[in-house]
Amino acid sequence: MEKLQNYIAGQLMDPVGQDWIDNYQPATGKVYSLIPDSDERDVALAVEAAQKAFPSWSVTSVGERSRLLLRLSQLIEQNLERLAQAESKDNGKPVSLARNVDIPRASSNFHFYATAIEQFASEAHIMEDKAINYTLRKPVGIAGCISPWNLPLYLFSWKIAPALAAGNCVVAKPSEITPMTAFLLSELCIEAGFPPGVLNIVHGYGPKVGQAIVEHPEIPLISFTGGTSTGEHIARTAAPMFKKLSLELGGKNPNLIFADCDFDKMIATTVRSSFANQGQICLCGSRIYVERPIYEKFKNAFVEKVKRMVPGDPSLATTRQGALVSKAHLEKVISYIQLAQEEGGTVLAGGQQVTLEGPLSEGYYLQPTVLEGLGPHCRTNQEEIFGPVVTIAPFDTEEEAVTHANNTPYGLASIVWTENLSRAHRVANQLHAGITWINCWLLRDLRTPFGGVKQSGVGREGGFEALQFFTEPQNVCIQL
Ligand code: NDP
Repeated sequence: MEKLQNYIAGQLMDPVGQDWIDNYQPATGKVYSLIPDSDERDVALAVEAAQKAFPSWSVTSVGERSRLLLRLSQLIEQNLERLAQAESKDNGKPVSLARNVDIPRASSNFHFYATAIEQFASEAHIMEDKAINYTLRKPVGIAGCISPWNLPLYLFSWKIAPALAAGNCVVAKPSEITPMTAFLLSELCIEAGFPPGVLNIVHGYGPKVGQAIVEHPEIPLISFTGGTSTGEHIARTAAPMFKKLSLELGGKNPNLIFADCDFDKMIATTVRSSFANQGQICLCGSRIYVERPIYEKFKNAFVEKVKRMVPGDPSLATTRQGALVSKAHLEKVISYIQLAQEEGGTVLAGGQQVTLEGPLSEGYYLQPTVLEGLGPHCRTNQEEIFGPVVTIAPFDTEEEAVTHANNTPYGLASIVWTENLSRAHRVANQLHAGITWINCWLLRDLRTPFGGVKQSGVGREGGFEALQFFTEPQNVCIQL
């Protein structure tokens, strides 16, 4: 069975403890590879390697850093098919999604930050004839980057690329549930000629490897994407050590549909924004509120489309719904469907686990599920489910729609459908969310700020925001 390895000091190596974790294929429910069950000793080696590399990497010219990141971006592109198949196998997502979204966007992340660092400038402040201030932007040192399983390479690269571009060295941990493309990335870094120790990837469990990264005194900065409760735990550990923290956390995103929307475009996009990646995208709209005059029309059209979405073998090009990422996650999502019914909800579509035939019979498949009849305050409408489950409900006024939208502890993304320009601006301005899409979804310009408010996170990724986070400003004041 294939054994993945850590990438430390430019080498692929086994974990110090020689312990391994079973890596399951969600489509079959079978173990298909082993990953290092690393611990604080492996993290210590990675930090040591990063410390050795930092003095030279931090003064490597911007041009050279940019060249290496561009090379990595090209290698991802050249290996797109291999990476897409690996991502699909490891995560359960349809290979078409990995091919069209995950892997191209991972390549774009490196390309974007390779060029963004060449445009990144700092400020100068002139005090008339008294003084000139200028701000130096220095790399912070060793960045700890921890990422989740839903968009494995895509979110991993979204952190690593700006951290490296800004001159930091990195100790990174992918989710132990989806380690494969991070492992393949380490091979590509070797091929690209990255200096040893600049990027280190340590595989293993969050409470062991992730915790060791967050606690390590020589790692002054943590960039984390994952669940809100893990984020809370990380903040509690890192704050007394005065670490710089970026937290991209969970969501419970509203999708507000007004009667004046472009109905066909809205329906097609709402199916995607509800169920893409089996609903396991932090930006999926899971609470759908529809203006009453079109509620029945929406319900009929939406339910009919969702009923036609049948989960299938993720490796087939035609599959649009794959497997959920793990057995534990499948069970969690099913428990929420049960809870929804206990709370008075009606299942309009889906709701059942699916058993496929032959080698896929033990895979983690679930029908896309639409629920109706639930109030805005129930747990189903308040807690993040992170699976192929949405609720639908009517609303009567714009004010009511905005109130429902803002009525959760989360504030990551929001979606609004209306052809009324004034309403679009007015509603967007009132939503408590880091991101609002009007008449679209998942349209991403990498220059824009990305992140959430309330319990969806602290700080922003994207564009120069990430480069600011991964650098420390120092003001220099010269008296004239
Ligand atoms: P988790 O919070 O469980 O895990 C995220 C990462 O943190 C994993 O690598 C995990 O390792 C690690 N980890 C777990 N415990 C610790 C710890 N004590 N110290 C350090 N690291 C730790 O999230 P999931 O992987 O389940 O991802 C799903 C969540 O991510 C959802 O809530 C989703 O909304 C959120 N998310 C947010 C995004 C955003 O941009 N705001 C984007 C995508 C997802 P391990 O896998 O071994 O547990």
